Amino acid sequence: MYGIYIEKDEAVQIVISVLAISFAMAIVFAGMDGMLGYPREFLFFLAPLVVTVGSGFILHEMAHKLVAIYYGAQARFRMWTQGLVFMLATSFFGILFAAPGAVYIYSDRISRRENGIISIAGPALNVAIAFFFLALQELAPIGQFFSFLLMPGVDFSPYGISAGTLHVWKFGAAMNIMLALFNMIPAFPLDGSKVFAWNKLIWIGAVIALLVLGAWAINPMIVISWGFMLLLFGILSKLLFG
Ligand SMILES: [Zn+2]
Repeated sequence: MYGIYIEKDEAVQIVISVLAISFAMAIVFAGMDGMLGYPREFLFFLAPLVVTVGSGFILHEMAHKLVAIYYGAQARFRMWTQGLVFMLATSFFGILFAAPGAVYIYSDRISRRENGIISIAGPALNVAIAFFFLALQELAPIGQFFSFLLMPGVDFSPYGISAGTLHVWKFGAAMNIMLALFNMIPAFPLDGSKVFAWNKLIWIGAVIALLVLGAWAINPMIVISWGFMLLLFGILSKLLFG
């Protein structure tokens, strides 16, 4: 049994990754214009993003780590510099490739089933966080105004952004559902590929549950856009890897 501890350089990589994913997400919503036009507001915008997206990312990774350690493996978070740079670059085009790093698992006796359970633990925790944020939205809503969120012609209201106001918890819930959906894409090295390899029925069940949750908590359009993408990657991985 290995200890459940975080090494110093692992902690440093976690902090950098959390800041980077929050910064990239801020760029997605504020754009280059928002960042340069309202630098002070942009800096304040990072705080709710660390609380919602940054926490969703790192708690997801720690869920993998804890379950892997439970199965007797050694596990630690490693930042992936190319992924981090790619994430920052694509954020300027409005796309978040949410993979600045991942938990690496070291063991010679992890079964396909155990690997599947380790993998699904991350998205499952994002769903739990989403429900927690939805409850906070009812109990203690927080709204923050940001000038750059007043974009004409862009409707982010399903994601908790309306009339320039960020509804922090609703936004956080939506982002955590998106993180779970993104990670369930059945393409290596994403979690979905390992769940798919373990048990296709569980993969399909989890994806349907996520789409229903997304349709309810975010927007019914999620089912079409994400459903299409997940199906496409499912077919591609079936064709390529059997
Ligand atoms: Zn994951």
